[in-house]
Amino acid sequence: MIVTNYLIIGSGVAGLTFAIKIAERFPDRKITIITKANEDESNTKYAQGGIAIVTDETEDSYQKHIDDTLICGDGLCDIEVVKMVITEGPKRLKELIAWGAKFGKTDKGNFDLGKEGGHSQNRVIHHKDQTGYEIERAILEQVHQKENITVLNHYFALDLITQNNYCFGAYALHERTKEVIAFQSDFTILATGGIGHLYGHTTNPVIATGDGIAMAFRANATIKDMEFIQFHPTALYDSSAGSKFLISEAVRGFGAYLRTQKGHRFMMDYDERGELASRDIVSQSIDLELKKSGNDCVYLDCTHLDLDAFMKHFPMIYERCKSVGIDIAKDWIPVVPAQHYLCGGVSVDKNGKTSIKNLFACGECSQTGLHGANRLASNSLLEALVYSDKIYEYLIPISIENNPFKGKLLDWNFAKKPEVQPDYLAKMKTELQLLMRQNAGIVRYEAELPKAKKQLLIWKNEIEDISKTHQISVALYELLNMITIGSLIVQHSIDRKDNRGGFMKVNAL
Ligand SMILES: Cc1cc2nc3c(=O)[nH]c(=O)nc-3n(C[C@H](O)[C@H](O)[C@H](O)COP(=O)(O)OP(=O)(O)OC[C@H]3O[C@@H](n4cnc5c(N)ncnc54)[C@H](O)[C@@H]3O)c2cc1C
Repeated sequence: MIVTNYLIIGSGVAGLTFAIKIAERFPDRKITIITKANEDESNTKYAQGGIAIVTDETEDSYQKHIDDTLICGDGLCDIEVVKMVITEGPKRLKELIAWGAKFGKTDKGNFDLGKEGGHSQNRVIHHKDQTGYEIERAILEQVHQKENITVLNHYFALDLITQNNYCFGAYALHERTKEVIAFQSDFTILATGGIGHLYGHTTNPVIATGDGIAMAFRANATIKDMEFIQFHPTALYDSSAGSKFLISEAVRGFGAYLRTQKGHRFMMDYDERGELASRDIVSQSIDLELKKSGNDCVYLDCTHLDLDAFMKHFPMIYERCKSVGIDIAKDWIPVVPAQHYLCGGVSVDKNGKTSIKNLFACGECSQTGLHGANRLASNSLLEALVYSDKIYEYLIPISIENNPFKGKLLDWNFAKKPEVQPDYLAKMKTELQLLMRQNAGIVRYEAELPKAKKQLLIWKNEIEDISKTHQISVALYELLNMITIGSLIVQHSIDRKDNRGGFMKVNAL
C-alpha cells in the first residue's frame, strides 16, 4: 500500500494545476499523481484554439462572455457557476503565465485574441495552434520542481476505495509489473478527462475512455448530463477507428464546400448558412446524409480555392492531407464528424466536491453546470483551471484527518489467472464503438436507444463475468468503463424529453 495525503488521478491541466498549488502551500504534505500513460499524454496536450478569457474590457466584458456561454448552453447552465468561472479567468491566466506558459501577443504587446464559434468577441488566448501543448509543458515543468509531488506514470486507476460514502483512495494497476497497488489518501481528486474512444471516431487521444466517471459511478457518485456530447463536424476520415486529425472550421470559413460522394452540396438543404451553420447543425446534417447513403464519409471540396492562399493559411492541414495521398488541388478531402467533448460527468458543487466525502472531480470528467447542454468553444480549459483552484481553496483550511481505511482491502493479485484474448476485447470494442455511433451518436433515435441499452447490459455482464475468472488488464477495464459510460449516455438520452443544445433525439430516420 502507498499512503499519501492527496491522490490525484490524471496529469492533464486539471490534475497538474491542483498539484502545483497544494504542494506549494503544504511543503510537508505528500502529493501523488497517478497517470495511465506518459505524464504528458492527455486531451490537454492537443487543445488547439486556446482559453476563453476576458482580458480587454474596452470591446469585451464579463457580461458578454457570460451571455455567450448561456446562449450556447441553451437554458441548462448554472448561472452562478457561469459567472464564477468567467470572472475568475484573468487570475487563473496570471498564474499560468507565472508558471512559464507563453501566449501570443500583437506587435503592440497586447494578447493576440482569437475568435471562435459562439463568441461575440475576440477573447481566445492562445499559443499558435498548440495552446494545450504549451500549457502542459509549462505546468509539468513546475510539477517536476516540487519535491513533495510524486508522478507515477503507467499506473492505471481501476477503482476507488470507498466505505459508507467516504473515499479513502484508489486501486491502481502498475502496467509494467502487473501488480495492483492500493493508494490510501486523505483526499482523492479525479482528473481523468474525456470519453472519446467510446465512439471510435474522435479527436481525443487513446487515453480518453471515461475511466474516472465509470469508477465514480461504481462507487455510487452522482453523474449528470451524460447525454450532452459535442461532435466536431469535420475530422479527416480514415477507415480505422481511432483518433482523428481535425480539419479546422476555418477551412469552411475559407470557402470549402461539403459534398456527398455523388457531389451534391448538401448543407444548403439543411440551413441557409450552408457550410457555415453552427457545429451541431453541420454535424447533425452530415450524420443524416451518411445514414441515408450508407457511405462512410462525406467530402470537403477545396478544389475551387486559391491553392497558394490555402497553403499559407493551413500549412499543417495541407501537409497532413498530402501525407495520406490527398492533393487538395484535385481531390476532395474525406471527412466525418468525430466525438470531441463531453459536457456531463461526475457532478460537483462549487468547491469541486462530489457526492462522496473526500472525493473531488475536476476538468472534463466533472459536471459543474458551466456548459449546460453545449460547451462554448475554449471554455473547457478555463473550467479546469478555475475548478482546480476551487478545490485547492476549499482544502486549505481542512486538516488531514489521519483516518485510515478500516475495511478489508480487495486482494487483486491472489491467483494467477489466464489472460483474456486481446482479439476478443478488440472485437467487442469495435462493436461497441459502432453501436454508439449508430444508436447513441449525433442524432439519437427513440426506438434504437432501448435496443442499445439491452445490448450494453449484455456486454457489461459478459465483461464482469470475464473479469472474475481472468487476469485484470488495462484493455479489460477500459472496455468495462466504456460500456459503463455508453450505458449512462443511453440512459440519460432516454430520460431527456426535449432537444437542447447539442442533443437531438428523433422518432425515426
Ligand atoms: C483536439 C482537441 C482540441 C481541443 N481544443 C480545445 C481548446 O482550444 N480550448 C479548450 O478550452 N478546450 C479544448 N479541448 C478540450 C480540452 O483540451 C480538455 O477538455 C481539457 O484539456 C481536459 O483536461 P483534463 O485535465 O480534465 O483531462 P486530460 O487533459 O484529458 O487529462 C486526463 C488525464 O487522466 C489520465 N487518466 C485517465 N484515465 C486514467 C486512469 N484510469 N488511471 C490513471 N490515469 C488516467 C490521462 O492519462 C490524462 O493524464 C480540446 C480537446 C481536443 C481533444
